[in-house]
Amino acid sequence: MRTIIEPFRIKMTEALPITTRSEREALLASAFNNVFLLDADHVTIDLLTDSGTGAMSDRQWSALMLGDESYAGSRSWRRFEQTVREITGFKHIFPTHQGRAAERILAATRLQKGNVVPNNGHFDTTRANIEYVGAVATDLPSTEARELQSEKLFKGNMDLGKLEQLIEAEGGNIPFCMLTVTNNTGGGQPVSMENVRSVKDILNKRGVPLIIDACRFAENAFFIKEREQGFADRSLLEIAREMFSLADGATMSAKKDGLANIGGFLACNNDSWADGFRNLLILTEGFPTYGGLAGRDLEAISVGLLEALEQDYQRYRHATVEYVASALISRDIPIVRPAGGHAIFIDAAAFCPHLRASDYPGIGVVNALYLEGGVRAVELGSVMFGKPAPGGGEEIPAPHELVRLAFPRRVYTQSHFDYLIEVLDAIGRQRASIEAYRITEQAPFLRHFTAHYERAG
Ligand SMILES: *Cc1c(COP(=O)(O)O)cnc(C)c1O
Repeated sequence: MRTIIEPFRIKMTEALPITTRSEREALLASAFNNVFLLDADHVTIDLLTDSGTGAMSDRQWSALMLGDESYAGSRSWRRFEQTVREITGFKHIFPTHQGRAAERILAATRLQKGNVVPNNGHFDTTRANIEYVGAVATDLPSTEARELQSEKLFKGNMDLGKLEQLIEAEGGNIPFCMLTVTNNTGGGQPVSMENVRSVKDILNKRGVPLIIDACRFAENAFFIKEREQGFADRSLLEIAREMFSLADGATMSAKKDGLANIGGFLACNNDSWADGFRNLLILTEGFPTYGGLAGRDLEAISVGLLEALEQDYQRYRHATVEYVASALISRDIPIVRPAGGHAIFIDAAAFCPHLRASDYPGIGVVNALYLEGGVRAVELGSVMFGKPAPGGGEEIPAPHELVRLAFPRRVYTQSHFDYLIEVLDAIGRQRASIEAYRITEQAPFLRHFTAHYERAG
């Protein structure tokens, strides 16, 4: 059959708020034209993020009931440890309340002021945790990653030449290197097994350990199976194992490919690294057999990690993203190609040629999506990444003006996406009327969360 169906049926529903256009106009105005300030109860289709917003399966909900809440050595911990080890092979595993706690412990124990940490693309919390201890977070994306329209298959790869140069220049000053799979900052683009292997080979010459930021390891495994020669007949679990076998440790947010609403872990092979992790974990997260999590969370994540590696699930998930992506392309709505694993990025600058970066075209598109259909998306453009000009005056714009439509896992059905396509179609036909916005109030950092906007026209 040509139709790739949702490989599940629904036995519990959650009502979606349906609003009228005039209600949405009033709601957006009272949120100062910033969709982050809307109540979720006023959003019909919420594509703000894929983090922690997934639906758990009946197997996960029943696993919750098996949660062992013993403080030390609980049955749920054993199950969690066994599952993570089955997938990653790492010797030491530490549960954390989410991905950034794992990053914080890694950065605080292994980095010193002035150290350098290369990555294909640091996620913002990873970068922040590295910078917080005075180290330098360096992005080394492949050159293809910057070409929004090129159809290259592994745009998440690290630039090997640049890594070699950096190792040459800073070798002794790099306590570890990271690879983010898929590369979230680069649009959810995958990293090939060949790239992971080459990165590891380069690092081995100087004994630099490799840490995988594994948030979307299962989506990345699916891309490898589909796109990389020699992997078509391998299971996603086998591919994931091979990838982790090339690394010395991992950080993970279970809010992504753990298919859970909270959780994460930190893992490594090195015994002395593990001692440092354990001591800080006890100080700030909890005893090592629960970290920052309840026994029931450990159970739900153990089930979720394996469900994320089910071929039917990944096939449906990627088919959904491709379905929306091809509908937008056929309507001449410019998106980053190829579509990523967890999101579609609209190129707001190309979509709104009548607006300049300082008009914040991404905010115009985000607000049009809400007004037209109650859809919530997020700007990744000059509001999020613009920088103040050194001497005052007009700020330095971001390299791209993107709008991200993130896909929560197992939450929306195809008709919800048909509705989204219809909303975008309507906006696309009136794109010349998408308005310029001005910031009227902003915080000194991470301003996108709380800024107030007004229409500039
Ligand atoms: C979400 C995410 C993190 C941080 O995880 P949290 O659970 O949100 O703290 C780190 N890296 C990447 C690539 C992510 O997508």
